[in-house]
Amino acid sequence: MPKKPEDAIRPEIRALNGYTVPHSDGMVKLDAMENPYVLPAELRARLGRLVEQAALNRYPDLPAAALKGDLKRVLQVPDGMELVLGNGSDELIQMVCMAAGGQGGVLSVEPTFVMFRMIATFAGTRYVGVDLRDDFSLDIERTLAAIERERPGVVIITYPNNPTGNLFDAGLVERIVEAAPGIVLLDEAYHAFASDSFMSRLPRHPNLLVMRTLSKLGLAGIRLGVLAGHAAVIQELGKVRLPYNINTLTQVVAREMLQHINVLTEQAGTIKLERSRLLEALRGIPGVTAYPSDANFILFRTSQAERVFDGLKQRGVLIRSLHGSHRLLADCLRVTVGTPDENAAFLSALKQTLAA
Ligand code: PMP
Repeated sequence: MPKKPEDAIRPEIRALNGYTVPHSDGMVKLDAMENPYVLPAELRARLGRLVEQAALNRYPDLPAAALKGDLKRVLQVPDGMELVLGNGSDELIQMVCMAAGGQGGVLSVEPTFVMFRMIATFAGTRYVGVDLRDDFSLDIERTLAAIERERPGVVIITYPNNPTGNLFDAGLVERIVEAAPGIVLLDEAYHAFASDSFMSRLPRHPNLLVMRTLSKLGLAGIRLGVLAGHAAVIQELGKVRLPYNINTLTQVVAREMLQHINVLTEQAGTIKLERSRLLEALRGIPGVTAYPSDANFILFRTSQAERVFDGLKQRGVLIRSLHGSHRLLADCLRVTVGTPDENAAFLSALKQTLAA
């Protein structure tokens, strides 16, 4: 019997700082890569009627074949490829780490999405991070050497990468896919804002999985992640999926929204236009270095990033500070592209903070 109940928790779990979400009530919220636009009233009313009719006394549809069919069509999943769905793509990352991490563990390039390391730890598997180059491009020699040395069960590459916003060179990603002894999970969470995807290349690579989420497209609240891959791998991953992980409300809303996907892709188009304006505005501010982005956020560097982050917060604008999270991110901040008004509020608060 442990002395205290919490002593029973695995040491590597006790050593973690859990994923926390800062208080944001009443603030201009530009910290979480959400789509800032709400749905048209008519569409919301239609969703309301569908939810009203949903059979909530029954377990959700399993295997959610209708939803998967709609997703394959809308996401242009190549013929013959299969899907497994997750309660957000976070859950899919967990499924892949649990099922395939094994002895070799999980390898990713850094800086990247912090949950990869955390989820590998939850899954009780090893995690190895390989640094990107100073310009956030892939260090291919170092990455291939690490793959050869560590023989990871899973390599995770984010395309485009969070928090740096860039798309890696596709040819280099292909070399990693070819060299990896196990699965390569290509996380395309920001696909809606990106100029390239590996989805159409999926049939050529039996060890590749392409992951998408509806979160950044405007449906973060329904929690739906999609993993596409070859049937043999998807079938195995399906074994670690908890039964009924995609609830009925998510299925109903997702199916309807996939019929109206143009509403969301048009919003994504507006966000991309705003991204160009925001990037240009940031680049015009002395002392700010803003990096190019294929996602719905922009990474920028400025001296005294912590002070700038706090100054923005005091002025009612919440972004994300990455200072201290990785050697390559010293003095870096990340801002989500919001509505024109939100972006203007951010830029004005930033200028005031820098002048203070
Ligand atoms: N992958 C990346 C790269 C992300 O940035 C995020 C969320 N910030 C996720 C996955 C998780 O998204 P979700 O669980 O909402 O699908």
